[in-house]
Amino acid sequence: MNFQLDQSSIESITGDILIVDDIPENLEYLSKILSQQGHKVRSVLNGQAALKVARVAQPNLILLDIKMPEMDGYQVCQYLKADPLTQDIPVIFLSALDQAEDKVNAFSVGGIDYIPKPFQAEELIARVTNHLGLRLAQTQVQALNAELEQRVMQRTAQLEKEIGDRLKVQEQLLHVATHNQLTDLPNRTFLMQRLRQIFNQTQAEPQSHLVLMMIDCEHLQLVNNSLGHSAGDQLIVAIVRRLQTCLGEETLLAHFGNDTFAVVLKNCPDISVALTLAMAIQSETRFPFYIDEQPIYVTFCIGLVQDSKIYEHAKYLLRDATTALSQAKVKGYGKIQVFDSTMHHRALNFFKVQNELKVAIANGDLSLVYQPIYSLETNAIKAMEALVRWQHNQRGTILPDEFIAIAEETGFIVTLDRYVLRQACLQLKQWQDQHRIDPAFRLHVNLSAQQLSQVDFLKHLDKILRETQVDCRNLTLEITEEGVMQKDEVVLSVLEQLKQRQITVSIDDFGTGYSSLSYLQRLRVENLKIDRSFISPDKGSQNPDIVSAIINLAHSLGMTVTAEGVETETGLTQLKTLGCDFAQGYFLGYPMASQPDNFLSPLQGWE
Ligand code: C2E
Ligand code: CA
Ligand code: CA
Repeated sequence: MNFQLDQSSIESITGDILIVDDIPENLEYLSKILSQQGHKVRSVLNGQAALKVARVAQPNLILLDIKMPEMDGYQVCQYLKADPLTQDIPVIFLSALDQAEDKVNAFSVGGIDYIPKPFQAEELIARVTNHLGLRLAQTQVQALNAELEQRVMQRTAQLEKEIGDRLKVQEQLLHVATHNQLTDLPNRTFLMQRLRQIFNQTQAEPQSHLVLMMIDCEHLQLVNNSLGHSAGDQLIVAIVRRLQTCLGEETLLAHFGNDTFAVVLKNCPDISVALTLAMAIQSETRFPFYIDEQPIYVTFCIGLVQDSKIYEHAKYLLRDATTALSQAKVKGYGKIQVFDSTMHHRALNFFKVQNELKVAIANGDLSLVYQPIYSLETNAIKAMEALVRWQHNQRGTILPDEFIAIAEETGFIVTLDRYVLRQACLQLKQWQDQHRIDPAFRLHVNLSAQQLSQVDFLKHLDKILRETQVDCRNLTLEITEEGVMQKDEVVLSVLEQLKQRQITVSIDDFGTGYSSLSYLQRLRVENLKIDRSFISPDKGSQNPDIVSAIINLAHSLGMTVTAEGVETETGLTQLKTLGCDFAQGYFLGYPMASQPDNFLSPLQGWE
């Protein structure tokens, strides 16, 4: 059929029609009528010929007589339906028989319609046209189905590819979420998942042991600050490579935080095995790392914890390994610490203090006391050191030794120091307003090392100075050796800026760190405070040789010296003999609240 199905012009459908009838007159009659309708008509006289013709070129429709000699129409139809080439050709039976049984037979062998003889031209035409239309529609539906199937297959293939791609993206996302971008090591999230799994396995097998090791790389921040973040990144990657050479395949190494790594040792027979490994890792730091051809030495602090039946959850292992690590850090650079349960209490206290301290600042429970510093030349008060006190509603006054270290460990010291600095400046302003204070008088305020490396420190300092309107010439900041030894740009520029504001700097606890005097001179530091341990060591008198050496060297470099912790008259006399400039200590005066009476006489002395 060479046309499209069109409902309105269904009558105009023409097709290739095969007529099979053993009576030539019938053939002639039918051919004539159908040809007149525009159909292409072929006609044959028996079933054999019909089957042959239909196979050679399949007609669109077959009109098949039922009653024929040799092979009747039913048989022909059965053959046609059995052959894949011809099975779809619609067959309309032609017969004079008009009994119900024959019709049923006709349909049961696969015929689609039945035209009774004698033929009626209109009926014949109508049935032929309808069936051709139907056949055409069927063909089109089949074609559409095939196309649809094709499209479904294409779309399925496309979807499979999309799903594949999406899975790949998902895998990548999962990797990103569970790995450190720089080192590609498992991150904290991944570590916790694996630690939980290993912990649960270990709990189920009494003879297997798990050790968690936390490694902290010290000085990494310094490298970032002094050589830039790219150098810092290179260093971390080099550290990871070195750590990996120490660890076996079975061991999980995770990048826990910026400069912290975690190692999970499963099936570790004994803590001593883990300790040996920790020492091996430690000894790797004997050799420098070369970054941009510069040798850089790194030290590791390592905290270890072994699982035991007391642990109910893997997260407590992590907590205790972190506690052991903090302890190792408190002990100093390059230390290893195995967790023991006494640390647990310390850790609990740690969190308690940390939380309470925040509330204390907000409630105004922190106050300042002032300890006089005397000039050994004039015997007059030359300065005061502001020292913080915590008025705890249950425990009374708490001394800084109980909370400063914790505040330093948590970083809260930055807030605390700013609070203290502000309060001290308010007090200084009051003194400046109420008394005629000598420009040589200094109020000393302690600043933690961390404060100096805060990029916004100067901004904050200026805000305090602006708000309190103090005369900066009366202000000295006490910074520990550790603080000034962070030789990074930020610290150096802060020191320079302090100078420009006429604020002096005093190096606190001098002698306990590693700073060289010439370095301090280059920083143009004005004053050194010799640490208490040299002035009044636990058992008695000073260490005059060291004190004398420090005083002489400091003087030759243009710095003044303050001795702190002077507890006896002998001590004071010795210091005078050695040429020390200033002294502070219980013998001279305890730290006191700033009630006017407490300082009446010294303040009068300045007026
Ligand atoms: P520091 O800066 O070395 O302060 C001197 C400490 O020695 C003070 O202890 C003072 O009370 C004590 N002291 C003074 N004279 C004598 C003496 O003759 N013998 C003995 N044995 N001790 C004496 P305090 O007030 O308990 O402060 C301890 C440390 O806490 C300070 O040591 C300082 O490092 C820190 N600190 C205190 N207040 C602040 C603060 O506002 N900010 C910061 N960052 N640290 C502070
Ligand atoms: Ca101090
Ligand atoms: Ca000190």
